[in-house]
Amino acid sequence: MIRTRQLSYQYPNGPTLNFPDVDVAQGAVVLLRGPSGCGKSTWLALVAGLVAPTAGELTVADQPLNALKNATADAWRARTIGFLPQKLHLSAALDVQQNLALAQWASGQREDRARIHAALSALGVQELARRKPAQLSGGQAQRVALARAVLLQPRIILADEPTASLDDEAAADAVGLLLDTARAQGATLVIATHDARVAALIPPDVKGQIGFQPLLLLRNKL
Ligand code: ADP
Ligand code: MG
Repeated sequence: MIRTRQLSYQYPNGPTLNFPDVDVAQGAVVLLRGPSGCGKSTWLALVAGLVAPTAGELTVADQPLNALKNATADAWRARTIGFLPQKLHLSAALDVQQNLALAQWASGQREDRARIHAALSALGVQELARRKPAQLSGGQAQRVALARAVLLQPRIILADEPTASLDDEAAADAVGLLLDTARAQGATLVIATHDARVAALIPPDVKGQIGFQPLLLLRNKL
């Protein structure tokens, strides 16, 4: 569940972004739409607890985020949020298996190779475990980053422009993987995108579900 009220964020020496009130039910699929620069990535960063709101209320997975202190916030974020950033941020010096292990260490867990293998297998990239990120295609790297995002079985998956710079076939693949992964884990899925193709890539059976909230349009006047 994600609930915001009168949420706003001001960048130091930048714009103040005022967000519409939002209620997203657990397990829902949501498209966060709007033109470039309207605040989609900022909204994801707020929900992920990466930045604190300047004003307003924000409750994510029953946790009022304003109340969390730094160390607690880090642990909470690692457990609750799976983030697929626009730039994948795979560590170039580490192989795929080590990149995923890093996510387990960062959350205070021990390395769990069986779990890593299961996450890679679910996305069809288990044979890439010993490769470095530079040895992956764009599509493979995105699958690895998604495996890392959902490794700790988060209740919420946030994806930032997952189809940016992908051709039609790869875009369909990326959206399909996100939907399948969220469904398999019962997770809430928020896809932030200015790509008009994405809405068309959500299949009718998903749109038919009660949980699908098609448009959460952000329109900030900048
Ligand atoms: P979107 O993801 O919808 O394209 P962003 O959330 O990235 O939008 O940005 C929203 C607005 O905030 C834009 O006007 C952008 O220029 C501005 N902005 C983003 N990051 C920063 C920053 N670090 N410092 C100042 N302004 C920023
Ligand atoms: Mg963005």
